[in-house]
Amino acid sequence: MISMRAAVMHATKKPLVIETVEIGPLGPGDVLVKVGAASICHTDLEVLEGELKYPMPMVLGHEVAGTIADIGADVQGLETGDKVALHWNPHCGHCYYCDHDQPILCEPYTKNRAIGRHFDGAYRHAHDGNPLHMLMYLGGFAEYVIVPAQSAIKIPDAMPLDRACLLGCGVMTGFGAATHIATPGFGEAVAVIGCGAIGLSAIQGARAMGAGRIIAIDLDDKKLDIARAVGATNVINAKDSDAVADVKKLTQGRGADVVLESAGAERAFQDSVKMCRPGGEIVWLGKVNVDRDVAFKWGTLMGERNIVRSSYGGARPAQDFPALAQSYLDGTLKLDEMITARIGLDEINDGFDLLRRGDAIRTVIMFD
Ligand SMILES: [Zn+2]
Ligand SMILES: [Zn+2]
Repeated sequence: MISMRAAVMHATKKPLVIETVEIGPLGPGDVLVKVGAASICHTDLEVLEGELKYPMPMVLGHEVAGTIADIGADVQGLETGDKVALHWNPHCGHCYYCDHDQPILCEPYTKNRAIGRHFDGAYRHAHDGNPLHMLMYLGGFAEYVIVPAQSAIKIPDAMPLDRACLLGCGVMTGFGAATHIATPGFGEAVAVIGCGAIGLSAIQGARAMGAGRIIAIDLDDKKLDIARAVGATNVINAKDSDAVADVKKLTQGRGADVVLESAGAERAFQDSVKMCRPGGEIVWLGKVNVDRDVAFKWGTLMGERNIVRSSYGGARPAQDFPALAQSYLDGTLKLDEMITARIGLDEINDGFDLLRRGDAIRTVIMFD
């Protein structure tokens, strides 16, 4: 058991409180990771705003990279001092969904995530002797995290941790949507709605697949400039023009072969089907409030379309994280452009404010 500083959520829509909490001991198969960097993802904000309901008190944070500090029993393949990027989809490997190759739906995974406990159903954190919940098996807004060893993916030593943490959620989700889920062919037209971390990564996934036109759509010119810098060939500010008509104009009137939605707005979901060609593919990555209805004109769904909802881009973290890290080191994956601020743990509430105002792509909390 060790004491550490963590940002604790005690209530929705209230600032997080920096407190000293306890973490440990390690269970069999666990590793202790000293957090080097953790970034604020939109899902953290949705939990804080009460749009996604989780038990409290809770430590948020699920985009995390750090260094292995200790190893539990029965852990193989990791050593103290290894640099790791963490993922939030540990899975049992033998339930109905794991047997169907859908680890994101793993039964113990979904059950224990909903109640904010560790993957084995127990707690690893305590606050004044009472159990403390963690978000998505991580609770990364803290000096240490305990994760199942399968969630800690070794990355090259040369990989900076502030860039590595981005891989854990946003980058994997967007890049994976374009490389594992939609798989655009060489020269095909891809439209990406929303240019946050997921959209900017989807653009780069589309580029890696050899897509032709990569059309980025957002309401913010600054984000569209970054979209161009990471590989978009065309940009559309949907505030100033009709994005559906513009995408059709750029695709001989047909619509894009693949549309990747990451804006998480009703209009974005509706436009995603309208701007996709008949027979094309649409991947929905964003989300609106879980209680909200989203309506479609039936005609916009006709003509054969493959619509997929994905929450993690078909992630295969053990293969993808090291490959993404190496692509960054080789200069082919752009991550620097996504970091809009670096702050300390004490400034975490300012980081959430930046995201609320739409002024952040990724704010990274630095621990060293
Ligand atoms: Zn399972
Ligand atoms: Zn996330």
